Amino acid sequence: MDGKVEVQFSLQAGRRTIDASARVPTGRVPLVQIIPVIHGIASALAQAGIEDVQEEGKTVSCRAGCGACCRQAVPVTEAEAQYLAALVESLPAAHQEEVRERFREAIGRVEAAGFGHKMRNLGDYGEDERFRICLDYFHLGVACPFLEDESCSIHPYRPAICREYSVTSPAALCANCNPDEIERVPIYARPTRALAGMLSEAEPADAFMLPHMNLIYALEWAEGHLPEEPRSTGPELLRRFLERLSNSVGANEPQAPAPRK
Ligand code: SF4
Repeated sequence: MDGKVEVQFSLQAGRRTIDASARVPTGRVPLVQIIPVIHGIASALAQAGIEDVQEEGKTVSCRAGCGACCRQAVPVTEAEAQYLAALVESLPAAHQEEVRERFREAIGRVEAAGFGHKMRNLGDYGEDERFRICLDYFHLGVACPFLEDESCSIHPYRPAICREYSVTSPAALCANCNPDEIERVPIYARPTRALAGMLSEAEPADAFMLPHMNLIYALEWAEGHLPEEPRSTGPELLRRFLERLSNSVGANEPQAPAPRK
């Protein structure tokens, strides 16, 4: 007995139905506890899109060693910030310090460029202004602190938004942040948006906001915020996530890559 229960569910991904199951804690837990399950769902949805473009004869350009998109602003949810902080905490001391130093450097570069306040408070701005701020961030060329040798050093544990983004267009277009020419692989639901609404009391239809925290602030944020008081069991959290996911945009909405990854 590991205090978990298996929950079976189906995901609709375009014309595919994905039958899935996940083991989640039986008791009340904070949202961070089911992040691995949510990340698995994000990967399954992404894979459905990849198989669809492959059936059309296209090739996905994303591969290890290409960090072209990893200099964009990376929106992460609060629960993912806690998850990433725990992940960093679990690294061997020397590696952990390297990663922490990259986080500090990234924050320092944004501060030095004079828009740290804006980046920390993206939620205070409307969508157009957020886009401009994130474009400024992109033009700074700050690599994600988890990027090592142009590869994701936490690939199995990367945030949902990173799983949602893959392309069939050349990597150079991602590197130049050219939204008009980038050809995205379809993602048939938006796990990051669904997750962002999870701690909200709003009805699912009102809860599709993108999280306003950029990944570079995840460790700092998590240091000052303990996981929320658990009020829901693992199956309840998963059910609420799936409910939000099912309404979280049905197709490959056009995206400007800088703020939305
Ligand atoms: S977490 Fe990994 S995939 Fe996501 S932006 Fe950072 S290095 Fe890239």
